[in-house]
Amino acid sequence: DAKGYEEYIKKVVDEQRVLYLRGRISKIFRDGDKIKVWGVDTLTGKSIEIAADLVVLATAMVPSPGAKELARKLNIIADQHGFITEAHIKLRPVETLTSGIYIAGTAQWPRDLPDTIASAGGAASKILSLFSRKELLHEPVVAVVDEEVCRGCGQCVSICSFQAIELDPVKKVARVNEAVCDGCGACAVTCPSSAMQHKNWTPRQFFEMIDIATAEYV
Ligand code: SF4
Ligand code: SF4
Repeated sequence: DAKGYEEYIKKVVDEQRVLYLRGRISKIFRDGDKIKVWGVDTLTGKSIEIAADLVVLATAMVPSPGAKELARKLNIIADQHGFITEAHIKLRPVETLTSGIYIAGTAQWPRDLPDTIASAGGAASKILSLFSRKELLHEPVVAVVDEEVCRGCGQCVSICSFQAIELDPVKKVARVNEAVCDGCGACAVTCPSSAMQHKNWTPRQFFEMIDIATAEYV
């Protein structure tokens, strides 16, 4: 059930003119100067007999044993096998949901060499575009703490996937690193005291926008 598997099969069938049969092998044995392969085509149900010059048995490709642990440490998502999940398969194929962490090659799914090189090139150009600018632009909507209201419970610290919040050891209130904050909003909905809000996107601004937009219907 690997992602990209159907595309991979179609590519080799179309471009390399390969005869592709999905089947089950029952027996492989030497027959004179050939190797006989017996089996059944699981799509048509017909039995197969192939006299081959060479038989290659390929094992499944699996992720490195440490892949799931690495994904956990980086706050990125791995599927049940340990392959890393991209932010969007078509629109953001080499990005993860954590800003600044990119993926390439067989970290995502089993791939052939050209596809691996293409995805590595995509990830490299994303990284180069980050370093080609003198300044990094950041979304203006970031979390901000109302220090008068914050009671230093630390719930926002543990919920933040970007490690953007820490507790000020002196003031005993939460402190947001705006450069790291992704504006996801998880801390604001978690805060039991409503001390965490979003700069430039406060509930008051939001409700006023709704009031103005719906004024003529009231
Ligand atoms: S908005 Fe998201 S990224 Fe920013 S501090 Fe809150 S939880 Fe962390
Ligand atoms: S969850 Fe709210 S009250 Fe608790 S530390 Fe964070 S901002 Fe302060």
